[in-house]
Amino acid sequence: MTRVVTRIPPSPTGRLHIGTARTALFNYLFARHENGTVVFRSEDTDRARSKKEFEDEILEGLAWLGLSWDAFSRQSERAARYRELIEGLVRKGRAYISEEPSREDPEKTVELVRLRNPGARITFIDLVRGGITFDTAELGDFVIARSLDDPVYHFAVVADDMDAGVTHVIRGEDHISNTPRQILIQEALGAPRPAYAHLPLILDKKRAKLSKRSPSGVPQIADLRAEGFMPEALVNYLALLGWNPGDAREDFSLAELVEAFTLGGVQKSGAVWDRTKLLSVNQRWMRTLPPDEFIERGGLGALGFAPEPLAKAVPLLQERARTFAEAHALAGGELLCLFEAPAPDAAALRAKEAPGLPRADAALAQFLASVERLPDGSSADAARAALMPLAEAAEAEGKGGRGAVLWPLRYALSGQERSPDPFTLVSLIGPAEAARRLKKAIGILGG
Ligand code: GLU
Repeated sequence: MTRVVTRIPPSPTGRLHIGTARTALFNYLFARHENGTVVFRSEDTDRARSKKEFEDEILEGLAWLGLSWDAFSRQSERAARYRELIEGLVRKGRAYISEEPSREDPEKTVELVRLRNPGARITFIDLVRGGITFDTAELGDFVIARSLDDPVYHFAVVADDMDAGVTHVIRGEDHISNTPRQILIQEALGAPRPAYAHLPLILDKKRAKLSKRSPSGVPQIADLRAEGFMPEALVNYLALLGWNPGDAREDFSLAELVEAFTLGGVQKSGAVWDRTKLLSVNQRWMRTLPPDEFIERGGLGALGFAPEPLAKAVPLLQERARTFAEAHALAGGELLCLFEAPAPDAAALRAKEAPGLPRADAALAQFLASVERLPDGSSADAARAALMPLAEAAEAEGKGGRGAVLWPLRYALSGQERSPDPFTLVSLIGPAEAARRLKKAIGILGG
């Protein structure tokens, strides 16, 4: 059997969006699963719209996702080869030069190269969709080059696939209608026909093709990267956009995907882009990281907090953050009290005082006495066991008493309306720092 060769042929006319990344991933997975090779090709024939910066972004994004390839080419560097092939077709009578009035300026004539189309019905087997038949008569003798030196896109694709020995063309469903033209060109060139697999469209929430007009637009890989998605999570999620392993598994590393991937698992129906699901996949991946790696990969060191409290905060960040951007926001916001002593406000400390319950300063004094007895390194459970009885006693006094006395405790420790519970805070900042904060609050209350 011939070795599998797939291709990743993006057009550098735009940024690397999730559609291009998914197609690239499937080509990579299939080739690696089959012990084959992948060729990368920059389809930069549209000189006006192709840009080096887009090519760079695409290459960088795919490499960041962990994809690799075995050969690299650019259509703009293959002009001589295309000309040679077009001249060969003209010589053999499979194509001809047609002098026609220019479309732009009917006063002028142009020399187009047209394929002599036998006009047969063509059937190809799509590995995802089954047999697809086209009547090619209606295509007529279509143009394959605007001059001997200016092949149209379809011609360049076929020539490149032929020269690279591509065995499998795996691409978006929007290319199905290009396939008959490309097969006719292949047949004229005497090139072997590769197998085709057209991937289902990626849809937005409204089940329309994901596009610039979709509510979320088309997500770009570099933007998702900047937002703090992990490449492992994106690869995992993108693989499941149109493919499933045939069992209930949802967590896959790239290596596991290579192992599990088959074209048989690709679905025909469109796959909906679901950011909420991506967030949960990302959170699962973030939770696999040990603290030091979490801090490093999340760039959390840049926040300038001391390493030890930062490392201690990681489990909380892993519980709450779904992206590294969210982790930054939490560390600098709701969890800031883990790194910096707060400046609580007297009125807020008293906010939940009620008749028949201990006043905030009295409650804090009681908590302080218990906190001072807690050994260093006490867990949240130990802190709860020491402090909760005081709150329970207040509860016995009246409805809501527990919450009323726990409030100044949590607020004195955090300085914030929203924060982790006070026992977790005591365990993370340590009893000594907790005691300092409680004394400070008591002082603020005039005690
Ligand atoms: N350059 C095309 C694209 O980016 C891919 C064409 C193909 O796979 O044949 O959509």
